[in-house]
Amino acid sequence: MMYDAIVIGGGSGGSAFSKRAAGYGAKVALIERGAQWDTAKGKRLSAGPGGTCVNVGCVPKKLMFMAAAHREMMVGPAATAQGYGVNVPTGAGSIDWKALKERRDKYVAKLNTGYTAGWKKEGVEVIEGIGTFVDSETVAVQCNDGSSRTLKGKHILIACGGLPSEPDIPGVEHAINSDGFFELEEQPKKVAVVGAGYIAVEMAGILHAMGSETHLFFRGDTVLRRGFDPFLVETLMEAMEHHGPILHRNSTPASITKQENKLLTYTATEGPMGEQKAISDFVTRPPMAMRAKISQSWAAILER
Ligand SMILES: Cc1cc2nc3c(=O)[nH]c(=O)nc-3n(C[C@H](O)[C@H](O)[C@H](O)COP(=O)(O)OP(=O)(O)OC[C@H]3O[C@@H](n4cnc5c(N)ncnc54)[C@H](O)[C@@H]3O)c2cc1C
Repeated sequence: MMYDAIVIGGGSGGSAFSKRAAGYGAKVALIERGAQWDTAKGKRLSAGPGGTCVNVGCVPKKLMFMAAAHREMMVGPAATAQGYGVNVPTGAGSIDWKALKERRDKYVAKLNTGYTAGWKKEGVEVIEGIGTFVDSETVAVQCNDGSSRTLKGKHILIACGGLPSEPDIPGVEHAINSDGFFELEEQPKKVAVVGAGYIAVEMAGILHAMGSETHLFFRGDTVLRRGFDPFLVETLMEAMEHHGPILHRNSTPASITKQENKLLTYTATEGPMGEQKAISDFVTRPPMAMRAKISQSWAAILER
């Protein structure tokens, strides 16, 4: 059978396209590989139904942001509140990370089901597996149930998204990325976030507002150097200077080392003199280095 369109990837792009095209009467097959893992490295290989946004992006990030904002309202202005005679109970704002993660994961799982049901309702044929090109109108699918299929389509949409990038430094395997942030079972006590993009800035802000000692390391003088309004960046920098997280400007990642007690030391080259500066004792299990997601070339993505 010839499909009008074959879509590889059920994230924001693939999902919207499939539903709209099927809504107009097109015969659409959507291939989504589901959430898969590199178990040896403990890293996520793919997002799952709904893509990055639903599973390891906008949605869980906003839930964490809301939790952080609630805590900040209770604890951040506590000194001011007490000044106005408001009693702030001891322990206010302590985070039950496990409960938060459980509820967040449940919400995401509900969205996964909802996305798949939504595609089917619009008449999209959903195929769970990994799609690869055979030629300009043929896609081979290695289905998750072990079978394989070959599909032919008049149009093929590549909507495979991207993976987080990592700095090429010794010890980077000890770090996690933004996907790993959503896997954390415990709140880290001390965190190094590396990056100047909006994801690093948001994650650092969330962790700081949740009460983790958070250091944000970035290469230039400011964060968000590309594509953001300068007045916005200026205001943000000023706010972070006063409020936190702890900022490390002009900082280039050098290495991460793991001590015997499992604590980590993050070393960066900082300042105009290129001085080596090591910050040690990133406590609790997974340390963090986060880098903004980058899109990879289509060819590279399809080879994964
Ligand atoms: C931490 C974080 C926070 C973010 N916050 C926001 C935000 O607040 N607002 C915003 O607008 N954007 C945000 N983004 C960006 C947003 O998530 C992405 O721009 C968006 O998800 C990209 O959609 P996409 O369809 O291109 O790819 P994705 O959503 O990544 O979807 C790609 C899909 O393709 C599947 N796939 C990959 N290869 C194959 C294959 N060969 N065969 C079958 N399936 C395959 C994957 O499993 C995945 O589900 C955030 C991203 C991150 C990481």
